[in-house]
Amino acid sequence: MTAERDEIAVVGAGLAGSLLACFLARRGYPVAIYERRPDPRTGTVERGRSINLALSERGLDALRRIGLDQQVMADALPMRGRMIHPVAGGPRFQSYSVSGDRAINSISRGALNNALLDAATALPGVRVAFDHRLVDLDPATGEMTFETPQGKVTAVAPVVLGADGAGSAVRGQLLGHGLLTESVDFLDYGYKELTIPPLGGDFALDPEALHIWPRGTSMMIALPNPDRSFTCTLFWPTHGTASFASLGSPAAIERHFATHYPDLPPLAPNLVDDYQHNPVGVLGTVRCDPWQVGGKVGLLGDAAHAIVPFYGQGANAAFEDVVELDRCLDECADEWSAALPLFQRRRQADAEAIARMALTNFVEMADKVASPLFQLGRRVEHA
Ligand code: FAD
Repeated sequence: MTAERDEIAVVGAGLAGSLLACFLARRGYPVAIYERRPDPRTGTVERGRSINLALSERGLDALRRIGLDQQVMADALPMRGRMIHPVAGGPRFQSYSVSGDRAINSISRGALNNALLDAATALPGVRVAFDHRLVDLDPATGEMTFETPQGKVTAVAPVVLGADGAGSAVRGQLLGHGLLTESVDFLDYGYKELTIPPLGGDFALDPEALHIWPRGTSMMIALPNPDRSFTCTLFWPTHGTASFASLGSPAAIERHFATHYPDLPPLAPNLVDDYQHNPVGVLGTVRCDPWQVGGKVGLLGDAAHAIVPFYGQGANAAFEDVVELDRCLDECADEWSAALPLFQRRRQADAEAIARMALTNFVEMADKVASPLFQLGRRVEHA
């Protein structure tokens, strides 16, 4: 059994890693979080990278357990239904509940991450090493190597938890040592973020809705932000005649949106600039097995089971992971070699279920038009 005072290493100070540190510190563990980026609380936000997300009850439950729900919800914008924007005609509202009072919450991802980091670092025994990119891991000894601005440094921990996202370096290390298999199903769809700024100081669209422009083989959504802007996310194939790559000039971009999303251009004065300069993000489903090795190295959140975002549940699932791992540690009296396999047994079927539902929900959100989505994907398998 790991002595309670041994410092646990968490790789990744994203949503899962910061929350996990809070839960582990509550159990009395010293925690070292290693994060490849600089401290996000002092830096600037990366352009066009998922600045808001929908937080639902599953995620809120985890925040409630560490007393952070009210602080986070103070800046949340409840979305009580979908607002469907057809090509022609006005938008139609579809409530998420019969009573109309149930909602999912639009949250700033950066603010949520910062709140979790503040909460983690306020707890005794938690330290964060920013600018530390994990590049090597010995799963047998727990020795880690990081690239930092000062050069390579090493650290060792009895338990190393990979919360380092879809492209997890921890998972990559286990793969490299022949200790797990993985498959990554990339969609031929990508996403690009566009902005609808406030209009006359107010929201340009109804802020109590998740806005959807269903277009069959493409789709756009928009979520409100506390500064009264909306972040739109356009999902579209990355290549082909109708794809992100097909709009090569400002005129082509303007023409495309005027034809397919006619209510957007009047509300999005920076549309062409956003389109030309914001990156196209990739979308994929990560599956791997096992999620842990020897009770010493474990994976959670996107590192274990990244999913496509069409159900808005990736972060919620990552938060549920943390709650479940905490429960497993309770049940196993902090015996990591029992708790980590139990955690995988409890969570893997759920992760697979939401991965499939998320893929299916693209078809639902894109108005149930038969989508070539499943044929267009590309699978990369490693064993
Ligand atoms: P991440 O948030 O990716 O955090 C990983 C951290 O690890 C990062 O800080 C990264 O810098 C760090 N890291 C990576 N590699 C290394 C390394 N080698 N060494 C050290 N540190 C490293 N989820 C929802 O619940 N609701 C939504 O509405 C929603 N919308 C989404 C929309 C889009 C367009 C996308 C792409 C995703 C969306 N998600 C949503 C999913 C959600 O963003 C992820 O599931 C969630 O961020 C996963 O958290 P994580 O902590 O596991 O990984």
